[in-house]
Order: sequence, then structure tokens, then C-alpha cells
Amino acid sequence: MAEPIPFKPKPVRAARSAVVVGAGIGGLAAAIALARAGLAVQVVEQARKLKEVGAGLQLTPNATRILRDFGLLNRLEQVAVAPRALEVRDGRSGAPLTRAEYGPAASRYGAPFLVVHRADLQTLLAEAAQEAGCAIALGCDLTAVEPAFGSVRAVVKQGDTLIAHGADILVGADGVRSSVRAHLGLSQPPVFARRLAFRATVPVPDGHPPEVRLYLGRDAHLVVYPVKGGATLNLVAIVRQTEPVARWNAPGDSAAVHAAFASWTGEVRRLLESASHFLCWGLYDIDPLPRWSSGRVTLLGDAAHAMLPFLAQGAAQAIEDAVSLAGALTRESDAATALRAYEGERRGRTSRIQGEARRNGIIYHLSGAPRIARDLVLRRQGPALLDR
Ligand code: FAD
Repeated sequence: MAEPIPFKPKPVRAARSAVVVGAGIGGLAAAIALARAGLAVQVVEQARKLKEVGAGLQLTPNATRILRDFGLLNRLEQVAVAPRALEVRDGRSGAPLTRAEYGPAASRYGAPFLVVHRADLQTLLAEAAQEAGCAIALGCDLTAVEPAFGSVRAVVKQGDTLIAHGADILVGADGVRSSVRAHLGLSQPPVFARRLAFRATVPVPDGHPPEVRLYLGRDAHLVVYPVKGGATLNLVAIVRQTEPVARWNAPGDSAAVHAAFASWTGEVRRLLESASHFLCWGLYDIDPLPRWSSGRVTLLGDAAHAMLPFLAQGAAQAIEDAVSLAGALTRESDAATALRAYEGERRGRTSRIQGEARRNGIIYHLSGAPRIARDLVLRRQGPALLDR
């Protein structure tokens, strides 16, 4: 991402105010939704620059519908791709197992399926948050959350300076290793999924269709789809790994990727070989939390319900959280009551999706007789694959 967003302090004129910790997809979506609900919003982000973390994101209609309500769909469609279909293939033979066209499903849900580079979505949300009047302060590391009389304070370290941002509510959108979660006394550690994700973007091979392809095999799978308006292809190679790896967006070992897929179909090997390098993620989620909120403080996105990427719902659920939180604050005048209402609306759905994503992680990597049964079910499912 090109330029850092300058810190533009915003005079607090709105009736209520929020400080949002974290300027990821969740924090920025929350900032937009809260500003639209009339709150004065200050976002604090530890990174000094909103840079390209991650690569592609699949956005399902539950997310694109909200982005359309934010007035962002046209801008999003300029950088995203509306893929034609989801095709699932056997990783070893390359044989198609099943296929679902996105068009009919998008009509049914009333919003498109899109694939986009995460940096493009983050830039768009950051611009929209600023246009909505939110202030975004970069290089601000949360060090304390302090209750104050009738408000709450986020204490952040910016360089050598400690700055306190007071607000009516504080939203912890600070990711899977959330400090706000720890401040709430929720000490559940992230759970390692025994999976690594290796991500790369590569040139689109001649004739490659604008589709999402999912190749399944024993102990590994590969997801492939176009990003950057179709100019590049996003690869996400998931491999089994027993030892916990706390790396996040770290240089990946290309030899390990090629070894994991050495006996797979030529089309998979050629795609992986076309990557100049991979970035590596240890995959973690968290067990559903017993609560998300306390008083004027709540959690949102991965901080509240980090989930494995095998249902492509982490960012989408963070975007749903944002709208739910803003809705609760519009309905309830008491901040703590609103945060409890938000949590009550969201916890069941996100816990269920966390569980489904874990299950998909097992199903994708089956071998032997269970794999044959899975493939039969997949073949029968066809277009129903896209039903939620
Ligand atoms: P994050 O993106 O983690 O943002 C948290 C922010 O908080 C960061 O900017 C961080 O710097 C900041 N922060 C942390 N600590 C502090 C602090 N102390 N002070 C200030 N700031 C702080 N989701 C989908 O919907 N579709 C997909 O296709 C998809 N694919 C994925 C593929 C992979 C391989 C992975 C790993 C994830 C995928 N996801 C997908 C999930 C999605 O990326 C996440 O769920 C989503 O980005 C979470 O957003 P967030 O804003 O909650 O957290």
C-alpha cells in the first residue's frame, strides 16, 4: 500500500464516540459503520503503515451486501474480480469433482461473490473511513485500557509518547492475538490448527479461466483465484505441520511447498513453480469465547472469533460484526447494554462458523475410504456448495 494515512485528529462533536483498536478489515469496517451511526470515531493502529499483509480474500454475498450498503461496491468492483464458478478438483489427478456457478447463487443472495486483494480492500475501507470523518492514527500500540468516569480510555504508545484516547466505547479489532481480549481477562490462547498457509501471487497462465479452483489432496489443498482486477492469480497452499509455528506473513520455504505437492497434477505443480516466493502463515483460531464484552469495551473480528480460513468467512464475519455493533448502538442509549446486545446477536453465528471452518479443514485433507465418501458427497452437492 503506497502512502501512510496521516493522523488527522477529529474534534469530537458527535453525541457519542468510539475508539477502535486495529485498522484491519474488521476495525475499518467498524469505523465506517459507527461513523454512519453518528459516532465520532478514532482508530488506533500499531503498524506505521497500512501495508500489504496477506494476499487474496474471497468475499461472499453476506459481506458484499454490506459493502454495497456502505456505498463501496462500485469502487470494490473496479479492483476485484467476479469469478465465474467454484470448481473443486482432485489434487493428484486434476479431475473435476464438482462445480458451482456463482451467477445463480449471487442472484439468489442479491449480492455478488467477489475475489479481491486484501490490500485493495483495506485501502478502500481506510479511504471510506476517512471520508466518513473517522481519524486513523498509525504507529499507535495499545498499552492499556482504562475505565474512566462515564467513559473508557485507550492508552497507546506512539514513538516514545503515551497518548490517552477517551471515548464512550472501545472496540478491540486487534486480531487473533488481541491485547484488548487480554485486557478483558479472556486469556484463551490461539489454537494452532496444525496447518501452514503459503501464499503467493503469480502471473495468470494463458487461458486460465476467471474461477476459484480448489484442489484437494491428502494433508494438503490449494486454492487459486484471480485478484487485482484479474491481472494476477492468488495461490494459497495449505499443508499439514505438526509443530506450532507462530509465523505470520513471514518468508516461506519454497522447497517445502514444492515437496508437499510433488506428486500432484502437473497444473498444480506448474502454478506453484511460477511463484517467485511464498509468504507463510501458521494457522490459528480461538475457541469460542464465554463473552466478548465488559462494560464499555467489546471485541470484533478475529479478536472475538478468529476462525480458520477454510470457509472464507473471517473477514466477512468481521464486516457483519461492524454492522451489528452499529445497529445495537443505534437502538440502545446505554453503551454497556448496546455492547451486550451486539454480542448476543453475533456470538452464536460466529461460533457455529468457527466450528464449520475447523470441520472443513479436516474434510479437505481426507484420504482413503473417507476421501471417496467425501468426493461422492461433493459430486452430489454441485451448486448447493454455495449455500450457507
Ligand atoms: P486483523 O486483520 O488481524 O487486523 C488486526 C489489526 O490490529 C492489525 O492491523 C494489527 O496491526 C492491529 N493491532 C494488533 N495489536 C494492536 C495493538 N496492540 N495496538 C494497535 N493495533 C493493533 N477471510 C475471508 O472473509 N475470506 C477469505 O477468503 C479469507 N482467506 C484467508 C486466507 C488466509 C490464509 C488467512 C490466514 C485468513 C483468511 N481470511 C479470509 C480471514 C481474514 O483475513 C481475517 O479474518 C480478517 O482479516 C480479520 O480481520 P481483523 O480486522 O479482525 O483482524
